[in-house]
Amino acid sequence: MPTYAYRAIDSKKSCNHCRQGFEVIQRMTESALTRCPKCKNSISRVLFPPTVVIKGSPLTETDRKIKEYEREGMWSHAAELADKEAEKTKREDLRVRALEDYKKAGYDFDKYDKKEDS
Ligand SMILES: [Zn+2]
Repeated sequence: MPTYAYRAIDSKKSCNHCRQGFEVIQRMTESALTRCPKCKNSISRVLFPPTVVIKGSPLTETDRKIKEYEREGMWSHAAELADKEAEKTKREDLRVRALEDYKKAGYDFDKYDKKEDS
C-alpha cells in the first residue's frame, strides 16, 4: 500500500504532528486527508521526491530465475514463472514477458486476440 505524506498548509495553524509533516499509509482508493487528525487544521498532501517513487522494481530472485530459463531456451518454464509472478505482483512488464515467452515456447495466442474484434 502506498504511503502518503501530509503537511500543515499554514504552519501557524498546526500542531507538532502536522507542522513538520507526517506519513499515512492509505489505499489508492481512499480519498486524501484534508485535516490533521490531531488538531483538525487544514493539511495538504506532499509529493515524495522522485527518488522514492518506485519505478521499475529491482531485480528479484524470480527475475533472475526467469532470465536463467530464457538463457537455457526453456521458454515455457520462463513464461509460467513470469506469469505466476505477474499475477502475484501485478507487474505489467512480467505479464508482457510471459506472453513473449509463451510465444517463443510455441503457444499460439492469436486465437485469443481475435475475440476482441467482435
Ligand atoms: Zn495538526
